[in-house]
Amino acid sequence: MGFNIAIDGPAGAGKSTIARRAAKELGFVYVDTGAMYRAMGLHILRNQIPREDEQAVAKACQDVKVSIAYESGEQQVYLNGENVSGEIRREEVGNVTSVISAYPKVREKLLHLQRNLAEKEDVIMDGRDIGTCVLPHAPLKLYLTASVRTRANRRYQELTQKGMDCDLEAICEDIAARDERDMNRAASPLRQAEDAVLLESSELGIEEVTSLVVGYAKERMRKGQE
Ligand code: C5P
Repeated sequence: MGFNIAIDGPAGAGKSTIARRAAKELGFVYVDTGAMYRAMGLHILRNQIPREDEQAVAKACQDVKVSIAYESGEQQVYLNGENVSGEIRREEVGNVTSVISAYPKVREKLLHLQRNLAEKEDVIMDGRDIGTCVLPHAPLKLYLTASVRTRANRRYQELTQKGMDCDLEAICEDIAARDERDMNRAASPLRQAEDAVLLESSELGIEEVTSLVVGYAKERMRKGQE
């Protein structure tokens, strides 16, 4: 069994940036579970399956193969053998994904893949239900969050730096809608695990949050060896 670190939190809280950096410092494998859900979302979008039709979505996901591999230390996501790591980042894919990830059949499909990875390797896994459902016995759980405004501002900066045209108010609305869906669904809703450490990052920079995470991890690993 690897040493497992679970990071949960809402969209745009900086989980992937922090987890990727902390994984590098600790020599752990970073597992981005949102990317796996996004691959499913992309499949639904490409096949023009109505996102609200749970049965049709579940049926379409049945035979889909989502897998991951690591190239130069970076996670790559494959959908039926095609590398879709770039395409899944589109806003449109994120929005479909947050609807279909509420369906238990979609979640079941990815749960095994996630647990198998954590069994074999030392991982930092990020998502929405890692501490509460996927790895309930992880020795370190973190809940990373920031205000909707802060998260929307960060996303806005990121997109404008890439030269993409975007609207801050629309991003704010998208984030709030995603929070609402992720937190209020029946299957594995986003919430802070009782034993998770809360990290509110509105006033903290990437370096600060990363060193907090690395510090907690080292402390827990030391305790585990005592
Ligand atoms: O983290 P990211 O924004 O890439 O995730 C996309 C969507 O996938 C989230 O809005 C959420 O609805 C879903 N997701 C989930 N459970 C996870 C990871 C992501 O439901 N463990």
